[in-house]
Amino acid sequence: MKKIVIRAGKERSLQRRHPWVFEGSIARGGADAGETVRVESAEGLFLCWGAFSPLSNIRVRAWSFDEAQRIDATFFQQRIAKALAMRTRLPIASDAVRLIHGEADGLPGLIVDRYGDTLVGQFLSAGVERWKVVIIDALMAATGLSRLYERSDVQVRELEGLPQQTGWLRGEGETEIIIQEHQWRLSLDVAEGHKTGYYLDQRDNRKKFADSVRQYGCKSVLNCFSYTGGFSVAALAGGATEVISVDSSAPALARADAHVRLNGFEPGHHRSLDADVNATLRNFLKEGRTFDAIVLDPPKFAPTVAHAERAARAYKDINRLGLRLLAPGGLLFTFSCSGGISPDLFHKIVAGAGLDAQVDGYILDRVGATPDHPQTINFPEGEYLKGLLVLKAA
Ligand code: SAH
Repeated sequence: MKKIVIRAGKERSLQRRHPWVFEGSIARGGADAGETVRVESAEGLFLCWGAFSPLSNIRVRAWSFDEAQRIDATFFQQRIAKALAMRTRLPIASDAVRLIHGEADGLPGLIVDRYGDTLVGQFLSAGVERWKVVIIDALMAATGLSRLYERSDVQVRELEGLPQQTGWLRGEGETEIIIQEHQWRLSLDVAEGHKTGYYLDQRDNRKKFADSVRQYGCKSVLNCFSYTGGFSVAALAGGATEVISVDSSAPALARADAHVRLNGFEPGHHRSLDADVNATLRNFLKEGRTFDAIVLDPPKFAPTVAHAERAARAYKDINRLGLRLLAPGGLLFTFSCSGGISPDLFHKIVAGAGLDAQVDGYILDRVGATPDHPQTINFPEGEYLKGLLVLKAA
């Protein structure tokens, strides 16, 4: 077994069960891509078993902090069983669920979503790539399903020196799937959609939005960064009669339109706008338009803390415009999925946007990702999605 020795003083985060070892913390040792290594302190104390990533800045990802643990097929079967068991205890109002959420499930670099009878996997680190066949077999056995589609077409694979890969790993057939989320039917294409096909982490927030739209009697709703219109369907379900979905992806918008029909809503109550959100918000302001509710769910502006400053300006900008466009008493549901922006900083950004817009608002709720995207207490980096539900002062 190859050994990695950590620089003196750099062992603390591993002792606190944080699962990453950065390149700069390593005194000596190396291994092949994905190979299991024993990580030790400068004094020779066992710290963890991990997977080596020779090219990534995150040089080792911990598999286990238990010295007696063997990293073998049984280990992966057990981790997968534990993740699945946790999901069965959660209240998940959907047949689409995140089954494996990387580090939080003790499987760094592995993402697995279930859409009905189909699994979609992302293998994002050298470690899970090396154990791929074992992991696939364990997944199929544990779920009893027969279809697994790979969506390892993600940029972080390059940091690991891995090529992008997509296609059926098990089973075959249609990549178009219809899922049931809350009371709604939504379609997605596991081969073509963003990420694994759909944004499951917003499931509970869509329901909250539907309830709030109804509670506050919102009729006109602007859903910015709508993707396939999940929040638009929620708005219609909440009684909105004039919903606009804005996104820069035409295929996503076509699906948003289809979702209106699929759920039996009045097609005339929804409109799709293939446009840049920032420009759209400015145009609506110029036209003197207002909305009863606005959703801002942009893509990750700050993947890491290093990007936080520029991202903060971009977040502030859209939030300022959004707050101005809201009718008095209107609702803003605003999100950031950037790991580099803390909930605290996000609150400050929205506060700054309110000041600039000269708008006062009440925070009705602070939300995060659905619990099938768990955060563990040892891994603060796992927190990424945060949202504020703001009621504009009347
Ligand atoms: N709210 C969605 C998820 C949003 S993901 C849901 O509930 O499913 C972010 C979306 O922003 C993507 O669909 C992407 O196409 C879109 N996007 C990114 N940059 C954009 C821009 N400048 N203007 C409009 N849409 C943009």
